[in-house]
Amino acid sequence: MSPTALVLGDQLHPGNPALADAGRVVLVESLAGMRRRPLHRRRAHLVLSGMRHLAADLRERGVEVVEHRGAASLREALTAHRGEELVCAEPAEPRAGRALAALGVRTLPDTRFLTTPEAFAAWAAGRRRLMMEGFYREQRRRLGLLLDADGGPEGGRWNLDAENRSRPPAGLHAPEPWRPREDEIDAGVRADLDRWELPLWGEDGPRRFAVTPAEAQTALEDFVAHRLAQFGRWQDAMVPGEPFLFHSLLSVPLNLGVLEPLAAARAAEAAYRAGAVPLASAEGFIRQVVGWREYVWGMYRLRADEWPRDDALEARRPLPAAFWGERVGWACLDGVVDGVRREAYAHHIERLMVLGNIALLAEAEPWETVRWFQGVFADGAEWVMAPNAAGMALHADGGVTMTKPYAAGGNYISTMSNPSWCSSCRYDPRRRTGEDACPVTALYWAFIARHRERLAANPRTAMPVRTWERFGAGEQAAIAERAERARAELARSS
Ligand SMILES: Cc1cc2nc3c(=O)[nH]c(=O)nc-3n(C[C@H](O)[C@H](O)[C@H](O)COP(=O)(O)OP(=O)(O)OC[C@H]3O[C@@H](n4cnc5c(N)ncnc54)[C@H](O)[C@@H]3O)c2cc1C
Ligand code: SF4
Repeated sequence: MSPTALVLGDQLHPGNPALADAGRVVLVESLAGMRRRPLHRRRAHLVLSGMRHLAADLRERGVEVVEHRGAASLREALTAHRGEELVCAEPAEPRAGRALAALGVRTLPDTRFLTTPEAFAAWAAGRRRLMMEGFYREQRRRLGLLLDADGGPEGGRWNLDAENRSRPPAGLHAPEPWRPREDEIDAGVRADLDRWELPLWGEDGPRRFAVTPAEAQTALEDFVAHRLAQFGRWQDAMVPGEPFLFHSLLSVPLNLGVLEPLAAARAAEAAYRAGAVPLASAEGFIRQVVGWREYVWGMYRLRADEWPRDDALEARRPLPAAFWGERVGWACLDGVVDGVRREAYAHHIERLMVLGNIALLAEAEPWETVRWFQGVFADGAEWVMAPNAAGMALHADGGVTMTKPYAAGGNYISTMSNPSWCSSCRYDPRRRTGEDACPVTALYWAFIARHRERLAANPRTAMPVRTWERFGAGEQAAIAERAERARAELARSS
């Protein structure tokens, strides 16, 4: 008898190995999973929509599908399949894999990534530092992406990041990204979410992200045709009122499995070869997809059980309630959280340099912060959040992923946003003391002071420590006082 395929919400790829010779397919919408912690309504919607679209597509192709909508839990739903041989693609989180094994489900190797955990571990073995750049170059060579006739990097350089860090000019505006048209499946999901009484957060709205292979292909084509050319140059830019800028919005279909990473990378390369986009844009996008994304995946699996325990900077404060939408009066934080509340999205620099940076400076407890990111972003998943939030943003891994903490004061936020977040703020990013001093700037210097021994030992972070030491005792005390007030403002929002 053919096995029964169990398909999880982030395994919607047509190449899912469990589907290969399945006699029947089971999809479980577990309420226990959705009640575990607050979840953005749009995230819940898109995952359920993706699962139901897959079910409809399989049925159309004559496959028997059993859907457990609103099941109390996965365990409870699977009791209906006792006696069947259940197979499932290996979940991204090893903990989930162990839970499936305990339920008698056999797992098959995952095929959603270009790099297996074993191949990444082999790459990592014996290396003193696991730098993304080295991994990325090997990916380019191995996959034959953007290489010249001699097998070297197209254009002579592997890394064009220096061309991708421009400050946005006034009035920078990006074309509206393509969005899917909702159908009766989406209407059904919306009705179920209305009646299930889940701990949902954030605003509802028409579905923004692709959840089927066909939608993902359209989203990719739209991005390549209309936004990729500018993607590189403005990759690090923040423009209030332009939440998507020239970003691709492809993390959702990639993470659900409905878009293949190599297809996305090849589409960018083809646009460059056709002369439609500059090399810096194609390289910047390919670096994100086959470099960062695969590196993060490999790093997650390499130390999956360690991430939740990481706390290198001994950050123990609760995540401020400003992250849940309580206003604190800091234009940057309130503005980016507003965008997340509306769209379940913020682009990479807003995530790293506003949300992650402020959580770092506020000493927010790392795993609570990871869980927040995971719940409120459309593309949230533990495998990608742990290295990005706990590692890259909060430095909780002590430098395994990044050689230095990404701490920054208000000046960075002011420079990389235009119109500057700071121009609509009651504080002044250049000031670290006094009534109108920027709380982010004061917290930054307090961070430097608190971790000065660690930072002084690293040549890349020693300079700000020397600057801190040059401040007189009076100024140091005034900064500490402003930082304390900033913490109180955040605590009031808690
Ligand atoms: C604190 C923090 C939390 C993050 N949480 C997530 C998350 O939960 N899910 C998620 O998919 N990404 C996460 N990222 C990575 C990155 O910010 C998002 O992938 C990206 O912003 C998604 O938007 P986009 O599709 O428009 O990306 P684009 O800017 O268009 O980039 C193209 C693609 O590259 C990939 N990518 C780029 N950077 C990264 C990265 N650092 N790690 C992994 N993939 C990357 C994504 O698949 C993305 O779709 C996080 C980054 C930070 C700093
Ligand atoms: S002044 Fe400071 S708090 Fe206000 S927006 Fe700028 S960085 Fe944020």
